[in-house]
Amino acid sequence: MRNQLTILFALIFIACNAQSSKDTEIWEPVPKKVYSSSDSSAPDDAIVLFDGKDLSKWKAKWGGKESEWQINDDGSVTVVFDGTGGIQTIENFGSVQLHLEWKTSEDLSHKLQDRSNSGVFLQNRYEIQILDSYDNPTYVNGQAGSVYKQHIPLVNASRKPGEWQSYDIIFEAPEFNDDGEKTKSGYFTVFHNGILIQNHVEILGTTENVGPPKNIAHGDAPISLQNHCCTQISFRNIWVRKL
Ligand code: MG
Repeated sequence: MRNQLTILFALIFIACNAQSSKDTEIWEPVPKKVYSSSDSSAPDDAIVLFDGKDLSKWKAKWGGKESEWQINDDGSVTVVFDGTGGIQTIENFGSVQLHLEWKTSEDLSHKLQDRSNSGVFLQNRYEIQILDSYDNPTYVNGQAGSVYKQHIPLVNASRKPGEWQSYDIIFEAPEFNDDGEKTKSGYFTVFHNGILIQNHVEILGTTENVGPPKNIAHGDAPISLQNHCCTQISFRNIWVRKL
């Protein structure tokens, strides 16, 4: 009888402690269904910032007027060097996934930082460089795909002048406390033409051309596209998803 009880208790013990695959299954919350018809079109939960028709989601960076960048018949927009600093979204954003496509000029009369230089700024402060870096050596922390003056791209994924290229950017916004101190760094992950070029790199502060990065407290802010100089650059198919 004692042996039978011992076996019974052992079986109960095993039954109570046996692990099951169900122990580690998580069923809720269920991720929301989102549909995208291709890997570059805006998913159905995205905010389309430029669809080829107009710049109604944007304004000039300096002066706040409507942008005069040139809308083209092929659904792209070309930078006009009008001294307005570029364009910025009317809406403010925090952490986002951002898709944009850009094309550098086949006019090779300029070089270095003057060849189709633009840039996409998250929160108007943190620049991923846009530049013709196909055959245009420059300082590598300022070539296409760099977090400007902070992080060199892992590889140079640049296409030839005149060919459309894409950026897919994951931006984690920095956080600040009420005393203006940074409590959490921001991060960038960037794919250039589908190739990983920035792998969750820490944003050290504002991407300054001169001097070290700055860390002045801020909240959500516009996404902006730079109007630098010299040779043309065009954009198309720009959309963003809030994270
Ligand atoms: Mg730039």
